[in-house]
Amino acid sequence: MKIYFTTCLLLAAIIIGFANTLTAEDSSAKVDERFLQANDRTFRFFDTQEEQSWQEPFFFMQMADTQYGMFTGNKGFEQEEALVQQAVEHINRLRPRFVIVCGDLTNATPDQDRYQAQVAQYHQDFSKVDPEIPLVCVCGNHDLGNRPTPKSIATYKENFGDDYFSFWVGGVYNIVLNSSVLKDPTGAPEVLAAQQTWLGQQLERANEGKAQHIFVFQHHPLFLKREDEPDQYFNIPLERRTPLVNQLKQARVRAVFAGHYHRNSYGVAGEMEMITTGPVGRPLGKDPSGFRIVKVHQSKIEHQYWGMDDVPEHIELTEETAAP
Ligand SMILES: [Zn+2]
Repeated sequence: MKIYFTTCLLLAAIIIGFANTLTAEDSSAKVDERFLQANDRTFRFFDTQEEQSWQEPFFFMQMADTQYGMFTGNKGFEQEEALVQQAVEHINRLRPRFVIVCGDLTNATPDQDRYQAQVAQYHQDFSKVDPEIPLVCVCGNHDLGNRPTPKSIATYKENFGDDYFSFWVGGVYNIVLNSSVLKDPTGAPEVLAAQQTWLGQQLERANEGKAQHIFVFQHHPLFLKREDEPDQYFNIPLERRTPLVNQLKQARVRAVFAGHYHRNSYGVAGEMEMITTGPVGRPLGKDPSGFRIVKVHQSKIEHQYWGMDDVPEHIELTEETAAP
């Protein structure tokens, strides 16, 4: 009888263990492929061969800080859900070349209880974007924690793909950085070092490929207004900011796009624009929830922030005036 009982217990343990493995596989299998396009340090949707040469003017939509859970301190996310649904309607009507969400996708960090529910809602809402319009996700400090670790980065990758990568679109080279390790590298110094080596290679590649423009996307602004402004919560510390700004200027990066500030801000470093975009989610200043539309012409870019209720019906890409 005793042996029989032990065998039963053992069998039960094996079955439970097996079921757990299945559930774990199930939950990762549930992440739609569209959220895992950032892989092997590139974005699979875009074919490098096809996208490497300049084609014609296009526009993309830059968003930031959907931050599901921020309005209520992680109790719910109804307001974020409604705002994202509004954003998705605009995306599907305007049909940009791509949409990029520059970090703080959720308010909870991977080690917090509400994280998975917020991630699931993000996935559910953004899966309503027309599959022909690629959605690029960028990691922020809430997505990795204020002190990112290999573990928090691994969790992010399971849900949203690589934390840093690059891709060509219509002759433009786009570099996505993990700015949370630039803000605080102490939990994952090897990630910052690897990203730095990789970045040097990317800037060379963009140059060799004769990129029409080079854009950098990240969560934290390098600076809000001036490249030498003092360190504070919303910018990258001067210690790592100055060498990076110089490297990007030297490589003729046209613009850096960021979020994190929950307001708009703007500055230049030489000819490089530092564009900080307000939130899809909760605003922290006078700018309403919204996003930026960026028009990319052969020799220039034009960009404007739109509040969610003021977005135009459609986007005109007017021809550039011919150079004299
Ligand atoms: Zn942030």
